[in-house]
Amino acid sequence: MLKVNQNYLKLPGSYLFSDIAKKVKGYKEEHQGQEVISLGIGDVTRPLTPTIIKALHDAVDDMADIERFHGYGPDLGYAFLREKIAEFDFKRRGCEVSADEIFVSDGAKSDSGNIQEIFAETCSIAVSDPVYPVYVDSNVMAGRTGTYDPASTRWSDVVYMPCTKDNDFVPDLPSKTPDIIYICSPNNPTGKALTRDQLQSFVDYALKNRSVILFDAAYEAYISDENVPHSIYECEGARDCAIEMRSFSKNAGFTGVRLGYTVVPKNLCDAEGNSLYALWSRRHGTKFNGASYIQQRAGEAVYTTEGQREIAGLVFYYMENARTIRNGLTSAGFTVYGGVNAPYIWLKTPDNMSSWEFFDYLLHKAQVVGTPGSGFGPSGEGYFRLTAFGSHKNTRNAVERIVSLA
Ligand code: PLP
Repeated sequence: MLKVNQNYLKLPGSYLFSDIAKKVKGYKEEHQGQEVISLGIGDVTRPLTPTIIKALHDAVDDMADIERFHGYGPDLGYAFLREKIAEFDFKRRGCEVSADEIFVSDGAKSDSGNIQEIFAETCSIAVSDPVYPVYVDSNVMAGRTGTYDPASTRWSDVVYMPCTKDNDFVPDLPSKTPDIIYICSPNNPTGKALTRDQLQSFVDYALKNRSVILFDAAYEAYISDENVPHSIYECEGARDCAIEMRSFSKNAGFTGVRLGYTVVPKNLCDAEGNSLYALWSRRHGTKFNGASYIQQRAGEAVYTTEGQREIAGLVFYYMENARTIRNGLTSAGFTVYGGVNAPYIWLKTPDNMSSWEFFDYLLHKAQVVGTPGSGFGPSGEGYFRLTAFGSHKNTRNAVERIVSLA
């Protein structure tokens, strides 16, 4: 008898960003001619930089040449890219990661959603709360999360690590020992980045309890604080307990190009000594045929001197928006967090509005779209996320509109 995967049926409602898109579409249809500004989804708006564009063109030209044409690439990704990653993202930061521990992919969404496949269905998970919804949802699909309680919006078998103003949005160590711990730093949506000591305490905890940390560093390029590590491998012992995921989306604007990677240290094992590297290699080789040669040449260009200078310019541009939002809303009396080591501003909804009430209020009164915090986990209720990924003009206009409501 044909039967769908029953775990998928447990996922509540529709996807957060589809709900938002539906509401915005409905509003626009009813109020034609009104300009709606979106500081909602975390997608970049600046075009790719000249060095990346040239690398893309050159790689396309390679494909037209009988000598330089490329078909299927190597399983892990091209060495020309993996070697640059190992040198720039790890060695220069004092981290011990070799090029053959890097698995090039089409981005951190697929990797952070797929990595759970190499763990047993019986493994328990802990997540920072609120956080990028892919971690919990992909574990729901895998049957690891128990039952869902719509009233509390919690899964019975997930260990939540609440991040609230009381702990300055830094997750406390899990209340119950999990097998797998998801950490995102800088965090989407709170914008909070863990300091070296805070991250080290998670690494120490994982080593002591034989847990694995799945560390999502998609926003690493936005870190400006010296005390905040860019990689979990800056922490002592992390090679024995952590997998790290990275993306070219937010640093280099590759949301439409697609490129990312995952680091799985070769020495990482489960409690019975089975290699996680071997399993991820097997999974990668079986279910993934690589990011294209063209994407990977563009990724390589990110690590040239010009590429590095240009992407620093992109980050600077977006962080100017973060400052505009932070300063504008703070001076209008809003309680605002984040926006310092991350392109996300996390704001307390005024007058005890729920996250979705504030979403409707902003859409209808200011024609500004943000993201309801409750979509990122139970502790996100009563908060709201604005992104710094808009244009300067739209960001200034959106802030003016919100401020005029206060
Ligand atoms: N990880 C986090 C924490 C994110 O917020 C996002 C996108 O918003 C991603 C991963 C997705 O990255 P990619 O575009 O590389 O798939």
